[in-house]
Amino acid sequence: MGNDTPDALSGINGDEAAHKFQNRDFIRAMIETDLAAGRKKIVHTRFPPEPNGYLHLGHAKSICLNFGVAAERGGLCNLRFDDTNPEKESREYVDAIRSDVRWLGGDWGDREYYASDYFDRLYSFAEQLIRMGKAYVDSLSGDEIREYRGTLTEPGRDSPYRERSVEDSLDLFRRMRDGEFADGVHVLRAKIDMASPNIIMRDPVLYRIRHAAHHRTGEKWHIYPLYDYTHCICDSLEGITYSLCTLEFVNNRELYNWVLNTLDIFRSEQTEFARLSLTRTVLSKRKLIQLVEEGHVQGWDDPRMPTLSGLRRRGVPPEALREFVSRIGVSRADNIVDYAMLEFCIREYLNATSARAMAVLAPLKVIIENYPEGQVEWLDLPLNPERPELGARSVPFSRELYIEQDDFRAEPPKKFFRLSPGAEVRLRCAYYITCREVQKDAQGNISALICSYDPQSWGGGSPDGRKVKGTLHWVSASHAVPAEVRLYDHLFLKDDPSAVDPGKTFPDCLNPDSLLRVTGFIDPSLRSLPAGERVQFERLGYFCADYDTSPEHPVFNRTVTLKDTWAKLEKQGRSQSS
Ligand code: ATP
Ligand code: MG
Repeated sequence: MGNDTPDALSGINGDEAAHKFQNRDFIRAMIETDLAAGRKKIVHTRFPPEPNGYLHLGHAKSICLNFGVAAERGGLCNLRFDDTNPEKESREYVDAIRSDVRWLGGDWGDREYYASDYFDRLYSFAEQLIRMGKAYVDSLSGDEIREYRGTLTEPGRDSPYRERSVEDSLDLFRRMRDGEFADGVHVLRAKIDMASPNIIMRDPVLYRIRHAAHHRTGEKWHIYPLYDYTHCICDSLEGITYSLCTLEFVNNRELYNWVLNTLDIFRSEQTEFARLSLTRTVLSKRKLIQLVEEGHVQGWDDPRMPTLSGLRRRGVPPEALREFVSRIGVSRADNIVDYAMLEFCIREYLNATSARAMAVLAPLKVIIENYPEGQVEWLDLPLNPERPELGARSVPFSRELYIEQDDFRAEPPKKFFRLSPGAEVRLRCAYYITCREVQKDAQGNISALICSYDPQSWGGGSPDGRKVKGTLHWVSASHAVPAEVRLYDHLFLKDDPSAVDPGKTFPDCLNPDSLLRVTGFIDPSLRSLPAGERVQFERLGYFCADYDTSPEHPVFNRTVTLKDTWAKLEKQGRSQSS
């Protein structure tokens, strides 16, 4: 699937590492200080996704940060699945996450872990806390626990079960484990401080009863540990020195430290950084699941989705994502990044690496009246004009061609240098042509342009020093292959889709025109381009052969326009399909 190349695999550990370290941020600065002072011996991080959805651009930031800082300092980064919510998690998500992390360049070696690997040890630590008098089984209902917890301005109240004896709590906890009680009857809570100013410290729940099968442990467990209790212990058991997470966990840090200190096990250290937010995008698995389930998109890997699998399918190279993450940096301040910045990084990388080809998306026929019928000439279109060593594509030229409808105007405005009656233009890498006559059909629509060519202008060079300003892309009508081309625009109309008007939900600001399918005509050599392969259609943008492509029915996704060609093509596509 996709571009799971070895090249991408070595990415985060490759040459980019040194470069990244120069773009220093507060985390890298902290690491440098710690290592210099001997406070830490090794940079050991982890990327800890919950397998309850596909990874998105926000995760890319976390992946690049965790794998990046470790690689830069000769350290290690683990992949750890935070799989403590069996109802929402699945093997499908685990597999997708593994291939997405690998695609982006994360290399976790043989260190692939699961919170569920530690269920036995988490359980014995819990018994230990009970024996230490640091945890107790509470029998209040969920609603009561919430009510007893107090508010930001009022302290909480002790549960009537808080002083349960160690023996009673131990007995109940074991019976919870053995499946004796229904969901919600008891929970295990840490015994900390119901008056703590930090609400998270008011006797947080550590375990709850869930009669649910787990995708890895099956029916073995009837109780599952909560995130705050699980995460710090997993970090500690793996020897994680830097536990990097997003800012919403800042208040959880106190509990993180409490658990490790109380159990007196290896002290991993949590540091928070700002989440990535992007304009015109939602980055929350919950919302992305909604888009998939309600059918607003065609699946997790729909090329309009901000998921890594969607971006990959769209043709975005992992190198461009890593560059993007490096440019936005890591900070403690929340901010919203403009989507245009991501597009810039994609264009920059594709410009340097994509082969060129010609395709016409909204065709207008050109007949060259003085070109011999049946004749075909093959010309060389450089694969990359800036890198002649890459060679050329052999492109057929013949009497009947297609050009882009938009490259012709019957009544040209000022400074229109493309084709119009009587005007002369250069056909890219071929000949100069002059428009002699405009043919119309019975309805008065332009059906073809009758042109003449200058046989002396072969190769697109100027025959007698005569200058033409416009250069058009084209394809030979009889050789070109029809292809389904999918043109994408932003999925949302608003910069911040989550800031919805009263009575609306975020899907209400979906862009109804985020996908436009057109039938284009592509260079015949592209017919068998393998899925995932990228190409620049000259003057139109960067495209990628879709997973659905086949020689019988080529399908291309537009990854990104060259500049702002969207509005233009959208109009053409509409007039073509109407
Ligand atoms: P979501 O809100 O989309 O469900 P999550 O934080 O619940 O995301 P996890 O699978 O728990 O998703 O995340 C794995 C790691 O990725 C965590 O360390 C998390 O902090 C980080 N992460 C998630 N979203 C972002 C984001 N937008 N920017 C940076 N890091 C993120
Ligand atoms: Mg989460």
